[in-house]
Amino acid sequence: MLTGEKYLASLDDGREIWYDGERVGNVVEHPAFAVAAQTVAGLYDALHDPDTGPELTTVDRFGHRTHRFFAPSYSAEELRAARDAIAVWQRQTFGWMGRTPDYKAAFMAQLAEGHAYYGEYGSNALDWYQRSAADVLFMNHVLIDPPVDRAKERMDVRDVYVSLRGTDDNGIRVSGAKMVATGSALTHATFVAVNSGVAARMQPGRDEDMALVFITEMNGPGVKLICRPSYEAAAASPFDAPLASRFDENDSVIVFDDAFVPWENVLVFRDVERAKGFYAESGFFNRYNLQASTRLAVKLDFAAGLLLKGTEASGTDGFRAVQAAVGEIIAMRETIWAMTTAMVAEPEAGIGGTVVPRLQTAAAARLFNTNTWDRVRQLFECYLAGAPIYTVSSVKDLRTPELRPTIDRYFRGTGIDAEARVKLFKLVWDALYSEFAGRHALYERNYAGNQEQQRLDVLGWAEARGDTDRMRAMVDDCLSGYDTLGWVGDRDEPSSES
Ligand SMILES: Cc1cc2nc3c(=O)[nH]c(=O)nc-3n(C[C@H](O)[C@H](O)[C@H](O)COP(=O)(O)OP(=O)(O)OC[C@H]3O[C@@H](n4cnc5c(N)ncnc54)[C@H](O)[C@@H]3O)c2cc1C
Repeated sequence: MLTGEKYLASLDDGREIWYDGERVGNVVEHPAFAVAAQTVAGLYDALHDPDTGPELTTVDRFGHRTHRFFAPSYSAEELRAARDAIAVWQRQTFGWMGRTPDYKAAFMAQLAEGHAYYGEYGSNALDWYQRSAADVLFMNHVLIDPPVDRAKERMDVRDVYVSLRGTDDNGIRVSGAKMVATGSALTHATFVAVNSGVAARMQPGRDEDMALVFITEMNGPGVKLICRPSYEAAAASPFDAPLASRFDENDSVIVFDDAFVPWENVLVFRDVERAKGFYAESGFFNRYNLQASTRLAVKLDFAAGLLLKGTEASGTDGFRAVQAAVGEIIAMRETIWAMTTAMVAEPEAGIGGTVVPRLQTAAAARLFNTNTWDRVRQLFECYLAGAPIYTVSSVKDLRTPELRPTIDRYFRGTGIDAEARVKLFKLVWDALYSEFAGRHALYERNYAGNQEQQRLDVLGWAEARGDTDRMRAMVDDCLSGYDTLGWVGDRDEPSSES
């Protein structure tokens, strides 16, 4: 397993990252990424820490010591231990990094038993499992086409969407862009495929040149990252932006500019059915929702703590409506944590003897999760109300002797001094209202696919698994118990006329 130091060194590999009109040199030294890189390095160090290592790691069936979620789980107990390992990492970031390395482990771990699905490319899949588990590789993924020409057939947008441009003995060449590769500047490799929404638009006989699943190293030839603004770079100080300054996982548009992908990195080649099917077949969906739910439960712990401390500072914590708001956040946290427990305690059979969270529970958690943060924001807006805007422009005001006595007098909180209050509300601001916070709200709503697709998937899987037949049958059972003459069966029973 990589240590933090080795992880940081591994990112200095000549990858092509563009930021603010310039090509980034060593990403771990760049002000847009440096502190976030250190945060991820801290996760790697925790794997080796005697205090956290035992809970975080296990030895897989190949003999690799690895993070528990990077190995497949073969029992409910192993899946629960993996959930708890996810939580240990998430507590290090207070739930504020959505794409820590364990996110994509939801997929990579299943390649151990699921490599045969990829047919002639199965050995590639198994090799990537070995690399992922042995090093605890940090992978990002891109599944979504760029937001343009959505009403057209995919093949008619080949100028922008990722498609095949050629092959030779060594590999394939692809061009096109994907939205968006969260955290990719700090990862080792990107996994390229389609999600359920995009897959629904693909057809055999038409879309073969886009029916590709492959992995590229971040320094692969022709792979470019074009980054959004960095909130870490914009952060004036840790005091002013305590979350943005260390947890900003830059979302980048990834461009494949006639990029070369060696055959050993190809998993699906010109095969529409396999490109559409890998998602369900792998158990990725079941497992990523366990990771995401665990993360969100940790983030909600943090949100509840923030609202508790914020309302205490305002002196409103004894009011009934304010208490109800805190209670609601805690209830959301408990509901999501309980869903993770259901996912690990009642799993279903996965590929090759593995167990994965039950599909329907994972689908329900996905929908519940993506609508939770919006409610948290509403509660903060209503019950902490304007308190976070009662602040100073930056930490420099606190360091100004001429101004400090005024701040000390008028910015104190209930039971805390002005510096502690300003510090607390700068944290609230960064969590709920800063540009970093706005991006988080957008992330929480969209990271798992668009809202309609999330609902359609719940229905589709309920149909596929017979749940809707059972539901219809229950209503038919009720309907069959009466007719225009009253109760069916025993006409002596009370009827509608009686
Ligand atoms: C902060 C952030 C980070 C992200 N990180 C990643 C990442 O790391 N990897 C990744 O792969 N993706 C990532 N995404 C992308 C994310 O997966 C998508 O935003 C999400 O799947 C929704 O897709 P969309 O934005 O294209 O919205 P759309 O799918 O375009 O949805 C918007 C609306 O248009 C409708 N619509 C769109 N197309 C059709 C159609 N053909 N027919 C009918 N209705 C249609 C939808 O139903 C919906 O009502 C990220 C997004 C954000 C905001």
